[in-house]
Amino acid sequence: MSSNDARVANRELMKEKNALKLKKEKIAELKRVVEDREKVLERTLNKVNSETEKVEELSECKICTNQYDHHHGSNFVPYQFECGHTVCKTCVQELFQKRFEKIKPQPARETPMIINCPFCKSVLRITNPENTLPEDQIMNNTLRAFLRL
Ligand SMILES: [Zn+2]
Ligand SMILES: [Zn+2]
Repeated sequence: MSSNDARVANRELMKEKNALKLKKEKIAELKRVVEDREKVLERTLNKVNSETEKVEELSECKICTNQYDHHHGSNFVPYQFECGHTVCKTCVQELFQKRFEKIKPQPARETPMIINCPFCKSVLRITNPENTLPEDQIMNNTLRAFLRL
């Protein structure tokens, strides 16, 4: 190989080396872009997940985990206590019934029962939910809006 050939070969090699270096830089840049996108996606996904959890929490009874049903007469109509906690009609009924059965002699069904909120232990006076406890209208409207019913 002449010295001229060697120079040409060397130049070619340098060119290839530079091209390779540029490619490597480009790949590193793309990798950074992909990583940034992944971070954004992950943040969005976490947000969506926590929103979904919130909605699910709001739409199911925390005692029996049944989905609230706003339809009039349903056993799973949401009821809100004075303390702000909400449970379904079936669970209010059960809380009422348990307390009611402990009282001897049996009082009238209309007698309000003193119970503790199952969540915050607030002292509550509840009347038989069969007829008198008002439905949680706010919760119903929220649910209706959310489910577009
Ligand atoms: Zn319930
Ligand atoms: Zn409470």
